[in-house]
Amino acid sequence: MAYNYQCSESTNIFGKTGSNTCLKCHGKECCVKLEPPTLTGTDIAIMKQHLHLREKDFVMETEDSSKDKFYYVLPDEFGRCIFFDEQKETCKIFLFRPMDCQLFPLDIIFENGKYYWILYKFCKLSDKVSEKVLKKADRLVSNLLDEEIRSYIGSDASIFDLGNWVRLRAVNIKG
Ligand code: SF4
Repeated sequence: MAYNYQCSESTNIFGKTGSNTCLKCHGKECCVKLEPPTLTGTDIAIMKQHLHLREKDFVMETEDSSKDKFYYVLPDEFGRCIFFDEQKETCKIFLFRPMDCQLFPLDIIFENGKYYWILYKFCKLSDKVSEKVLKKADRLVSNLLDEEIRSYIGSDASIFDLGNWVRLRAVNIKG
């Protein structure tokens, strides 16, 4: 299992511009409004190791109609991610936040046998997505196992209902 997408300056796909934009927004469009993020097997392993958490403390497991399993961060009493700090309006685990959060407002769809990047336009960071950012995103998902990417995509369907997203280019898995 890959362990090297821990978020740091070098793997934060938006760099400082991203951090500044997120600080001003206080997670209003993502952490606050959306359902808790999906978790890949790699996310779970990293968070257990670095945050010294037990799986039952932060992982929620669900199944779809075909009995495929998906994993999310546990919601709090308001249905938000348990790692959102209400008072500071920020992420309590920023350096070890799941891939879903690291990539946002990017996401992946699978069409005609290919993965494609899509972009949610309601996030202020959507204006900052350049080819350089996409290349970093390619590298981030290249560290994942194929089944992790598939389960990540399959479990993220509800967000599409929000509309306001555009398709970008194909994901370059070899990044
Ligand atoms: S893990 Fe952090 S960045 Fe991701 S949804 Fe939760 S609070 Fe937001």
